[in-house]
Amino acid sequence: MSGWQREGRSKAAAPTASPASAAARLSRPLGQGAQLAHEVRLARRLQLPHAVVVEGLRGGGKSTVLKWLTAALLCPSELDPDEPCGGCRTCSRVASDLHPDVHLVHRAQDEHDHKENKLSFYVIKVDQIRAAQEVLARHAVEGRARVLCIADADTMEEEAQNALLKTLEEPGEATFLLLEATRPEQLLQTVRSRVRRIRVLPLPPETLQEEISRRVPGAGQHLDAALAVARGSLGLGLLATTEQVVQLHDLVREMLVDPKQLRPVAMARAALEGARERRLEIDAARTFLWLLRAELQREIDALAQVEATPYGSASAEPWTTWLEQTLAAERDLQLQIPPEQVLTACLVSFRHGV
Ligand SMILES: [Zn+2]
Repeated sequence: MSGWQREGRSKAAAPTASPASAAARLSRPLGQGAQLAHEVRLARRLQLPHAVVVEGLRGGGKSTVLKWLTAALLCPSELDPDEPCGGCRTCSRVASDLHPDVHLVHRAQDEHDHKENKLSFYVIKVDQIRAAQEVLARHAVEGRARVLCIADADTMEEEAQNALLKTLEEPGEATFLLLEATRPEQLLQTVRSRVRRIRVLPLPPETLQEEISRRVPGAGQHLDAALAVARGSLGLGLLATTEQVVQLHDLVREMLVDPKQLRPVAMARAALEGARERRLEIDAARTFLWLLRAELQREIDALAQVEATPYGSASAEPWTTWLEQTLAAERDLQLQIPPEQVLTACLVSFRHGV
């Protein structure tokens, strides 16, 4: 039942009589093309395929797209036949994860989820999918439709994915499954063949710049550095303007200027400093590896430009080897190896290439 704790708590915290006070506002996804507009139109008419996977980069707006689609399914307003209204109580409740017809499955988001609800920080367990199916079987549709949302669906255990197949084949009346995945290739072929894929498009640099400047008016001096590592993702771009990440980014850049001076253990500790629980440690390690990967990719891209000129003969080594090691470290993090160990091992391997 653990997967439903959050929904249960939310319901208790938001009595049905009160309007959606303190509710988040539903956001319209930025810079998405005709495909999403088409799917949203289908959702308004309840003609969306019953299972959809929203794919894209970390921080790239997948959950914004997922909520927009969910609101398109549920919004009762007749103002716009092609989009959710964004302002009604249903839309607000979807935005704040408080809608009774929306069931959420996710990994542990904090120590409470981990210890009390027995959720994992790494995978979605089969019990969570079974609990979700029980809830779907018990609850009738109250509004226009009901929606099962699975965040990080690519982290579902194989058994969980197999259990989900039943719902993918027979979702039930007016029931929609919306999955979110950074690495959709992790989904079983049997799952992939039953879902419509919606790819979240990266944002063009000018849109990113405009949005970050608007949302973080003080970003000024950090804007270029943020844009350089955002790679089309607004979430990552915004993250890169936060004080902590700015500092981490400086550390990464200094390290790459002179890798001979690198002290792996101290560097790994610096990257994880201030992360007091496992969830935060994992996030900090992911952030460090993302910054490292983005900076390495930049070096490699710059060398490729030189290579393209008649005089160019620059070697992409050791950058490409380091990039591979960084990617391997990101995979190790998924394999539940402690973050400090992953970062230290990755950084130790950097010294061999110098
Ligand atoms: Zn609405």
